[in-house]
Amino acid sequence: MGETQSEQSAVLAYLEHVADRFDLRRDIQFDTWVTDARYDEATQRWTIETSTGARASGRFLICAVGAPVDDQHARHPGHRDFAGETYHTGQWPHEPISFKGKRVAVIGTGSFRHPGDPGDREGGRPRHRPPAHGAVRLSAGNRPLSPEEMAEARANWDSIRAKMMAHPGGFPVDSHGRKALDATPEEREALYEKLWQRGSFKFFLDSYVDIAVSEEANATMADSVKAKIRKIVRDPKTAEKLIPNHFVMTKRPILENGYFETYNRDNVTLVDLRNDPIERFTRNSVVTKSGEHPIDMLVLATGFDAISGTMLRLNPKGRGGVSLKERWKDRFHNFLGLTIGGFPNLFMIHGPGSPGVFYNMPLGAERQLGWIGDCIRHLRENELGAIEPTKSSEEVWGNEVTTLANFTLFPRTDSWWTGANVPGKPRYFSAYLGGSIYYQRIADVANKGYEGFAFEPAKRA
Ligand SMILES: Cc1cc2nc3c(=O)[nH]c(=O)nc-3n(C[C@H](O)[C@H](O)[C@H](O)COP(=O)(O)OP(=O)(O)OC[C@H]3O[C@@H](n4cnc5c(N)ncnc54)[C@H](O)[C@@H]3O)c2cc1C
Repeated sequence: MGETQSEQSAVLAYLEHVADRFDLRRDIQFDTWVTDARYDEATQRWTIETSTGARASGRFLICAVGAPVDDQHARHPGHRDFAGETYHTGQWPHEPISFKGKRVAVIGTGSFRHPGDPGDREGGRPRHRPPAHGAVRLSAGNRPLSPEEMAEARANWDSIRAKMMAHPGGFPVDSHGRKALDATPEEREALYEKLWQRGSFKFFLDSYVDIAVSEEANATMADSVKAKIRKIVRDPKTAEKLIPNHFVMTKRPILENGYFETYNRDNVTLVDLRNDPIERFTRNSVVTKSGEHPIDMLVLATGFDAISGTMLRLNPKGRGGVSLKERWKDRFHNFLGLTIGGFPNLFMIHGPGSPGVFYNMPLGAERQLGWIGDCIRHLRENELGAIEPTKSSEEVWGNEVTTLANFTLFPRTDSWWTGANVPGKPRYFSAYLGGSIYYQRIADVANKGYEGFAFEPAKRA
């Protein structure tokens, strides 16, 4: 039976079903890593090299490399001195992990179901959850879908899809236009309480439209969240460490179950690494300023090099052999979040400059790929050999991304959305916050004959 938020195994089973049903497997090469990608100006072709030694060449390179990459930089550099089991939340093993009887240190506030989960059920011993002031944790509110709900979704699929296409975040919910400051304090609290109990992103989506744009509106939600944390977490000192010290929702909220309640357990302690930083790891402990914490297992919930990290790891080489790392040294230059100057015929999915993680990503990928398909058809029909954005269109787009972001509170919080978690990363808000406006913008560019792009005629082989 389906759930409102499906388990990893259910998502995998669905993807396998789709691959089989549409006979996709013959076009997919698994366990093959693209280690290099180079553009050849003479032939107008990309050549890739892979971890298996196989090479391939083609006119177009579509980089659907995903948005978040687990961040090696953000891991504490000395963690490799620890000899016990170590896991990063972005590389969780498929096999079940036993926490039974183990002392577990969870470092960081990145996504991780919740610190007490499997170990507590199996009688795990003291675990340390060091960080504080992370993103707001919302109850996932997960539950099985009833057969009636499934039937209703199938019967109304067209209208659900139309709603997703119109919604700024690509979600099938009605936009209501309510503003926080138009409601009375009692009305606001009643709504926050109802949505908090229900859980999921609806806490944000179904509340008020000005939460992420108005400091005053944000404060009403922040006050409610702080009061809830103080009510749940019994030890006042621990509660204060868990209270967000930023505009709420301007860090990616994490959906979990019983996160704050976990801190009421006598086998869970919170170490605030900002006041009590990690000094080193030993073979069987983590040593912070205040002393040594013996551990058997380390869970690194240290976050992701998001939005640009996967493209930079691929690091394609464009015109003149210039690498993406060089081109993106100061800023993630791009046009429409789809293309990069100096990298002809290369397209990105969910790259910087696109809505990316600020949108329903499967739907976003579908819509971006539709645009890319039309663009490739345009090139073929017009016997064009290469397309790439002009420098000025990249500048205009970069300004649009920043202007939209500056209407909101998001750039004013240090988060992985602003690149603040990765040392040396250009620090600015690089996602396009226009939601469905984005898809209108990219369609307009195509309808105007790919305005803002430069073309080269196809070279004869
Ligand atoms: C921190 C975080 C935030 C998220 N936020 C959102 C959100 O806001 N909205 C949402 O809908 N979903 C979100 N997700 C869920 C999820 O990431 C996406 O919905 C979905 O996975 C995107 O699909 P994708 O195909 O673009 O990327 P992925 O599922 O990440 O697939 C990319 C694939 O490319 C492969 N790859 C990368 N580089 C190479 C290479 N050089 N050679 C070969 N293969 C390569 C990777 O191994 C991977 O299999 C988030 C996930 C995380 C971890």
